[in-house]
Amino acid sequence: MNILDRYHAMEYGPAPEARNEADAWLAARDFGKALFIDGGWKAATGGKTFETSEPSSGKLLAKVSDASAADIDAAVAAATKALPKWSASTGYQRAKVLYAIGRAMQRHQRLFAVLESIDNGKPIRESRDIDVPLAIRHFIHHAGWAQALDKDFPGHKGVGVVGQIIPWNFPLLMLAWKIAPALAAGCTVVLKPAEFTPLTAILFAEICERAGVPKGVVNIVHGGPEAGAAIVNHAGIQKIAFTGSSEVGKIIRKATAGSGKKLSLELGGKSAFIVFEDADLDSAVEGLVDGIWFNQGQVCCAGSRLLVQEGIADALIAKVKTRMSRLRVGSPLDKNTDIGPLVDLTQLDRVKGLVAEGAKQGAVCWQPDAALPSSGYYHLPTLATGVSPANILAQEEVFGPVLATMTFRNTEEAIELANNTRYGLAASVWSENINLALHVAPQLKAGVVWVNGTNMFDAACGFGGYRESGFGREGGREGMFEYLAAKLPLGPVIKPATTSAQPVEQADGTAIDRTAKLFIGGKQVRPDGNYSLAVATAKGKLAGEVGLGNRKDIRDAVAAARACKAWPEATAYNRSQVLYYLAENLSGRAGEFAFRLTELTGATPKAAREEVDQSIERLFLYAGLADKFEGRVHQPPARAVTLALHEPVGVVGIVAPDASPLLGLISLIAPALAMGNTVVAVPSERYPLLATDLYQVIEYSDVPAGAINIVTGRSAELAGVLAKHDDVDGLWIFADADTCAKAEAESIGNLKRVWSGNGRGLDWASDEAAGDAFLRRAIEVKNVWVPYGD
Ligand code: NAD
Repeated sequence: MNILDRYHAMEYGPAPEARNEADAWLAARDFGKALFIDGGWKAATGGKTFETSEPSSGKLLAKVSDASAADIDAAVAAATKALPKWSASTGYQRAKVLYAIGRAMQRHQRLFAVLESIDNGKPIRESRDIDVPLAIRHFIHHAGWAQALDKDFPGHKGVGVVGQIIPWNFPLLMLAWKIAPALAAGCTVVLKPAEFTPLTAILFAEICERAGVPKGVVNIVHGGPEAGAAIVNHAGIQKIAFTGSSEVGKIIRKATAGSGKKLSLELGGKSAFIVFEDADLDSAVEGLVDGIWFNQGQVCCAGSRLLVQEGIADALIAKVKTRMSRLRVGSPLDKNTDIGPLVDLTQLDRVKGLVAEGAKQGAVCWQPDAALPSSGYYHLPTLATGVSPANILAQEEVFGPVLATMTFRNTEEAIELANNTRYGLAASVWSENINLALHVAPQLKAGVVWVNGTNMFDAACGFGGYRESGFGREGGREGMFEYLAAKLPLGPVIKPATTSAQPVEQADGTAIDRTAKLFIGGKQVRPDGNYSLAVATAKGKLAGEVGLGNRKDIRDAVAAARACKAWPEATAYNRSQVLYYLAENLSGRAGEFAFRLTELTGATPKAAREEVDQSIERLFLYAGLADKFEGRVHQPPARAVTLALHEPVGVVGIVAPDASPLLGLISLIAPALAMGNTVVAVPSERYPLLATDLYQVIEYSDVPAGAINIVTGRSAELAGVLAKHDDVDGLWIFADADTCAKAEAESIGNLKRVWSGNGRGLDWASDEAAGDAFLRRAIEVKNVWVPYGD
């Protein structure tokens, strides 16, 4: 054998990580008393336990306390008791606790990593170099946010007791993403790890004891869906933060509807990994290794759909296959292992089932010729080619080491394919042309986009999805908002609408009859049903009739809003000028609007004029803010910048209140428009004529067709249609409590972002009913990672 042959034949020797400390920790613990409640260790009421086992061997690791509803009660009671003191503590006091947690974790970094790999099966290289250091960074980073709270989040305070539920794929990291911002914000928590991977959370609770976390501030309970549901449904909890599957996310959205609980959902994904023909193919292949084979593909943002430009497809696939043949499948505790076992037999069976189904549907599934370890839940890395866009492997989140490949011809097709999914978590774009990459990134419906990279995370950069990947962000400034409540000026309780179908007494007068219509796609249109709704004056006479909009009208309005590209694609300066112009034109008819307000609501002429003037002022405000509520640039500890872009939510449905019928409507429409959303508005059911007067002003204010659509009619009914419509991305609803609750429950189809007043209006005239709190709801933050250097 010559030296070259020897070189090629060279095998890695085993590089096992010592596990004696972890085994000693496991042997010394009483897992029958694993619930960490009020600073103490408790057995589950009734003594129930569940088993956690080692994915690489199937061997039992521990029998862990399975919390009952009574235990969840006790944990919530402890968190509630601890809340006043913790939330009243100074930012500095909380910062010191967060810092102490981070430092204590650092001191036990290796134990955390080994335990994580034993319990979850992830290669030690990943837990040691990625999961644990990132978790530590999260606590240390958020120590700073605790101290910066008053200055950076004026008018905000912690939401209260938080229930947090996490999955098994990044047990410690997800715990850190949840607990660190909550503690920084002054919240107390009840957290439930996933039932497959409870161990590092137990070690973390020990760290809390040592780091001086006050009793009851952090409570960690264990169990499965039942324990999770007990947290979700607990009346003593003010916010639920969930990471897990979209299926359970939807159950939680429904369960919390109408409860007033704040909610963030970090769900599944089917992220695109787009390789353009000018990409550095070798780098792209290494990116893919991280993108889909990291953590065995059990990653919410895994780049599980490879979209490759036709001209380079064969070359890239050949390189990918060569690289796959060199991936080392084996013990998670071997430092040379690239691919460990899946977390559990059920997960392995699921992945196998999906691969078989994908093959049945026409995909060609290729695996390297490698032997699997004799025990454990291993699955070979798998490459599926010939995948049609409808194939199950292109649509379903596999959550395993399976890559589905498709080709595209040009940039438009790449974007279309990438967005052809109900998810919207992440995407990678590979091109040596930064202009092309930054042209594509904003067009991808994904919360995170990595340019020439993948799976980059940092505590300072928000992470989270669009569409069925959930809502809310974790990390960074936007992640802090998830645990804070803004002080909005509450208005009165909203009663269910009482407009009667009875004819109202005809008003005197000789004015020519005017038919108020719906306003859809820039045109006045008659309602589909050809029914009308009588509108009464304050004196009970007939003020006019408006169209009684129905499901079909909402559908048309949503289609018009979706088709309107001119508004979201306009520059912020351009939008600003249109909003100024709208204000200017409304001002020109201020007297007429004031008269209408008095006639309909009975407001004094002075009060009516005030409402009109305030409406104009509000339009002016948002016109001015349109080009100022901008994103940020983060500088994470990596050779990269992260552009946190503010993007419009999309099509936003708005159900406006009766109170302050002009100002309330404008207070909601204007911020949505300022940020580039298109709007389908259902104005006050009782005073809709203000909106139908308003569309006349809109018509000559240079607002592009479809940017604002107005459908008059029964608020509750139309709110329901908007809530169920899968092409509506956001819904802002100020209606009675029942209508709000129903809309939240009915929004689960596409997990639209619902902002509900929960049956309360706002004091629309207050200065606090405007500004950043509204603009924040009008945007999604997209984090685009751009690495630099050669
Ligand atoms: P899962 O939804 O089955 O379980 C997640 C957690 O919810 C577990 O703790 C589980 O016990 C609990 N749970 C289950 N049913 C519940 C119910 N009815 N009520 C309350 N709690 C309930 O998900 P999983 O299989 O553990 O994790 C995998 C999923 O997590 C994937 O879809 C993945 O994409 C997603 N994930 C998302 C992110 C993200 O940030 N977007 C990060 C990691 C994982």
